[in-house]
Amino acid sequence: MKQFQILYKDDEGFLEKLEEIKQWRTSHSTYATVFRIYSEDMELEHIRHVCDRLDAEMPDALYLGCTTNANIMDGALSDAKIILTCTIFEYETTQAKILQLPFTEENAVQDVAELKKYCDANPWVQAVEMHATIMDMSMKEFCNEMTHLREDIQVFGGGAFNPDMDDETAFVFSKGNDFLGHGIVFLLLGGSDFHTYSTLISGWKPLKRKFRITKADRQILYELDGKPALDVYRRFLNINKNDRFFSNTLEFPLFMEHGDIDILRCPLAVNNDDSLVMSSDIQEDAVVRLAYGDPETILASIREDGQKIADFCPEVIQTFSCAARKAFWGDNNISDETILFNSVAPTTGFYTHGEFLRIKGDMLNFNVTLVIVGMREGDLPKEGKKVNIAKAQIDNDNNEKIPIIRRFVSFIEASTAELEEMNMKLALSSVTDGLTRLYNRAEIERNIRSALERRRNQEKCNNISLIMLDIDNFKKVNDVFGHKEGDHVIQTLADVLRNTTSGIHSCSLGRWGGEEFMVLLQNSDADAAEVLAEKIRREFSSVSYETAGCQTVSIGVTQAKDETADTLYSRVDKALYMAKAAGKNQVVRLD
Ligand code: GH3
Ligand code: MG
Ligand code: MG
Repeated sequence: MKQFQILYKDDEGFLEKLEEIKQWRTSHSTYATVFRIYSEDMELEHIRHVCDRLDAEMPDALYLGCTTNANIMDGALSDAKIILTCTIFEYETTQAKILQLPFTEENAVQDVAELKKYCDANPWVQAVEMHATIMDMSMKEFCNEMTHLREDIQVFGGGAFNPDMDDETAFVFSKGNDFLGHGIVFLLLGGSDFHTYSTLISGWKPLKRKFRITKADRQILYELDGKPALDVYRRFLNINKNDRFFSNTLEFPLFMEHGDIDILRCPLAVNNDDSLVMSSDIQEDAVVRLAYGDPETILASIREDGQKIADFCPEVIQTFSCAARKAFWGDNNISDETILFNSVAPTTGFYTHGEFLRIKGDMLNFNVTLVIVGMREGDLPKEGKKVNIAKAQIDNDNNEKIPIIRRFVSFIEASTAELEEMNMKLALSSVTDGLTRLYNRAEIERNIRSALERRRNQEKCNNISLIMLDIDNFKKVNDVFGHKEGDHVIQTLADVLRNTTSGIHSCSLGRWGGEEFMVLLQNSDADAAEVLAEKIRREFSSVSYETAGCQTVSIGVTQAKDETADTLYSRVDKALYMAKAAGKNQVVRLD
């Protein structure tokens, strides 16, 4: 496979380049020849002129293309409004075919049926590259249908676009076909010596705060957490309805998980009711988070995934990158993302607003990503040729924006980590008692109520027992030895409870009040609970305090029946009272 890269500046240069290609073809054995034409020039006459030239000069060559937001040539953002690549296949087995169809939501399913029919009849098809006008339509049905394509067929591509992000006009075109404002063009490639490898780079990271999509229909996001969707952008990013909404929000897309794949969606516009028009379909009930670009993560994934592409030893690399990435890096630095690939193979592509990649049979519509596709004819070269991308350094020092973003990213991450730690501490402190580190009254009560509830809903009842404890003559400890020593005795009983129950499953310990405790056993009958209670009593009474000497505890035990928590409490409390009345330092069980 040989690729020529062409910047269309004027006819003279173009014809010279075509002449060079023709020369090369005569001196090599070549087969299918395919031109891709990407144009950010929206004047159709200009593009048509280029196509006419190709028809005249190389009538056997196929071509396809689309309008774009901007073009990528030799791995960098190109200043040429129209660029072309000419891919010449050098294996007789490699085949190429173009299929262009009108494309709207109504006929998307039919289009896929036509593509599928062709692929089924032509087993040589291994890869489908697609360019489509997608701006004002849902791609859900299309993607669903594409999953039925033969499983081994790789699919990748991007949406036709416009250099003006707020203009929905876009076109696709191909040899022998008209320019279509609502169209799709497939380039079918394959053959026994043809190989492709595709991957996807994101690098955008989600904030922790989650929102649920409470109302959505296709690409319209009506509500997040029951409030108009715009509220989230207003509250977190101070972005309001105005003409520049898309440019303001596109660096902060919504992040959602699709199995183990991360998907981003950009808000394109706001409606009067503060609902958002998203870049692609979104699912009601999904959980989303605001995402932000992190230069370090982006560059790390470019090195990592880039190395996989490099190891594939492609002869040609196609890229479909989101215009949001260009807005994020800025025109001066966006090429840092793609330039490394050009050291592996000629790298071309364009900036789009919807990237497509089939992953494990699933056809996915991405936003804010960079889809990279390597193509090769013939076997993997045994040695040499391999490029080490992983070690490549990216020079960002001349970028004014990135250092600030980097600092903000680490600021966000550090404060998020701190907040999380604080939340965890708060969550813990809201259920534990400060002095004993056992559950507090509210939490042990919650545990008891839900244990009873669970048992009610189960067919087979497990045994639930309660042990209630109260330290004997505790007032005296406080009065004679001081409050501090009293606290120490309370903490010691908590330690005894922890130690004696450490091997028991489904056991919860709580401080019920001053020097009263409750033990919930979710898998013990009254016999087992009584044995445990006796052990606790013995252990506690055997502790000798330096000043307070030995202390004792009275204990009530009971097993739950089919009853409410209140009747259970009153029975265990009664058992405890009976232990006190009978002379303290003993266990009483009430069935
Ligand atoms: P009885 O054997 O009948 O239980 O007698 P008692 O002295 O233990 O009686 P009571 O249960 O009425 O006394 C509880 C005392 O516990 C009263 C209160 O001052 C003390 N107390 C409650 N909470 C704490 C605490 O956190 N630390 C300390 N040191 N004392 C506490
Ligand atoms: Mg008491
Ligand atoms: Mg007491």
